[in-house]
Amino acid sequence: MANIIDGKAISAQIKEELKEKVAVMEAEGRQVTLAVIQVGSDPASSVYVGNKKKACAYIGIRSLSYELEEKTTEEELLVLIGELNNREDVNGILVQLPLPSHIEEDKIIKAIRPEKDVDGFHPQSVGALCIGQPGFVSCTPAGIIQLLKRSGIEIAGKECVVVGRSNIVGKPMALLLLRENATVTVAHSKTKDLKDVTRRADILVVAVGRPKMITKEYVKEGAVVIDVGIHRNAGNKLCGDVDYDDVAPICSAITPVPGGVGPMTIAMLMNNCVESIK
Ligand code: NDP
Repeated sequence: MANIIDGKAISAQIKEELKEKVAVMEAEGRQVTLAVIQVGSDPASSVYVGNKKKACAYIGIRSLSYELEEKTTEEELLVLIGELNNREDVNGILVQLPLPSHIEEDKIIKAIRPEKDVDGFHPQSVGALCIGQPGFVSCTPAGIIQLLKRSGIEIAGKECVVVGRSNIVGKPMALLLLRENATVTVAHSKTKDLKDVTRRADILVVAVGRPKMITKEYVKEGAVVIDVGIHRNAGNKLCGDVDYDDVAPICSAITPVPGGVGPMTIAMLMNNCVESIK
């Protein structure tokens, strides 16, 4: 049976480390501040924003909350971001996505100064990752690297397959694995013979957004399987993109859902906030 990679415990450990760092900064008179903007009142977004603010409070990061009405215009949002960009006491700016359809997300992401882009979504942050320069990295893939490293799983030289090529998970994940000297393949909906591709993986990262799609036929015996997906079934139970019960018996290590990748995303956001003060 596989080792279960405990994202809850690893994220708790990271948060404790950050709490200590923030306490030292505070003693030096430096306060980390994150501005969190939510437009509208989408219930899922409200839960995510609430969890981010809770994590800030726990670590000692000051959070400024901007809860804007659904009808807020793109122009009004850009003005607020402009103000926050110019405020010296604000280190990080986070705009909760998705935004209402009348606001162009790309435009908003580009408006955030890259030095305050704690989500790592700005094209400059993505470009920096691509050419190996310092910059903020998208939180979920950064969290997966931490999960692997802190579980003692070697990445260098391994065959890694990432299923999914989204801008926030798949692509940055592939770039980070490459930075760690893995041999990386990215698969997507147009990939032929997906099972043949995924069965090559020593480390398989799945971010397809399809509940329990990855069964044991997709996995090489002894592989490490990282499940990014989050889905809620009819009974309100969470599951991932991987069929955990089917796959766990044949792999060497696996992340559960919940309690795997999910908790790491917020921990890495907090890490980016602490880094943003530099
Ligand atoms: P997207 O929908 O943006 O991307 C899905 C990717 O999977 C696309 O690249 C798509 O290919 C590919 N894909 C879809 N179907 C197939 C298929 N049948 N075979 C192969 N590839 C396929 O999703 P995200 O990357 O944003 O998220 C993926 C999952 O991770 C979701 O369940 C999401 O909820 C979860 N998630 C979890 C987070 C966490 O904190 N744990 C954070 C972010 C996301 P193509 O490009 O060709 O369309």
